[in-house]
Amino acid sequence: MNEIFRQAHESLLMFDDWENVIVAFTTKRGGVSSEPFATLNVGMHVNDHRHAVYENRKKVAEQLNVSLDRWVCADQVHGVHIEKVTNEHAGKGVRTYDTALPHTDGLYTREQQLMLALCFADCVPLYFFAPSKKLIGLAHAGWKGTVHNIAGEMVKRWNEEGVDARDMYVVIGPSIGRCCYIVDDRVITFVQKALVNSSQSLYNETSKGQYALDLKEMNKQLLQQAGVPSEHIAISSYCTSCEQSLFFSHRRDGGQTGRMMALIGWR
Ligand SMILES: [Zn+2]
Repeated sequence: MNEIFRQAHESLLMFDDWENVIVAFTTKRGGVSSEPFATLNVGMHVNDHRHAVYENRKKVAEQLNVSLDRWVCADQVHGVHIEKVTNEHAGKGVRTYDTALPHTDGLYTREQQLMLALCFADCVPLYFFAPSKKLIGLAHAGWKGTVHNIAGEMVKRWNEEGVDARDMYVVIGPSIGRCCYIVDDRVITFVQKALVNSSQSLYNETSKGQYALDLKEMNKQLLQQAGVPSEHIAISSYCTSCEQSLFFSHRRDGGQTGRMMALIGWR
């Protein structure tokens, strides 16, 4: 397997190709939560004990050597709202959910001291980097965020910040693969509408009205549609549903499960 993330620790996968930028994705291992959140659940909103989640987040913060006080978390709703994060947001949503940035599925910042953090259990994490303008960002793209084009939305926001799409780099992180992601006609209709060019290569019918969909590749095509060069986009081959020993999977685990975290910050 030609995988872009390296397993740096039982609890942590890292992507190392962006100079001075921490790009991380947590696993489900090495934490203190019990079933169905065993063991490294970092989601505050899933009925796990708050203290266990906090303990788990603390472990990750120690491994990354970035204080939890510098993390910024969001209240994710499968929308396309993106928030520009500044130092005054530091620590939001870390200890309690009610301080998380409301109704937000994308974060970006110019600040050097912050760690952007979003939760995942199958949805696609998109990490953004513009070395020329020192911008970093993170987005949460499930099928809704994908078809409503949160990827393109981030590119647009960064255009407004003076960054050309040709100067942006994106990593598409561990998420559910085409091998395991089945959707119905309703979703496919949205998929077809979202792309200017043919979307046919992104899905195939597996049984009547049921389709295997490649959400990672769809995000790549949306990014290219927005002007990001294909050679600036790297895709993880990890499927969160296939890799049961490493990841929680909302689909595979029938909805009752923990969350992993995607994190991006400066070293
Ligand atoms: Zn799979």
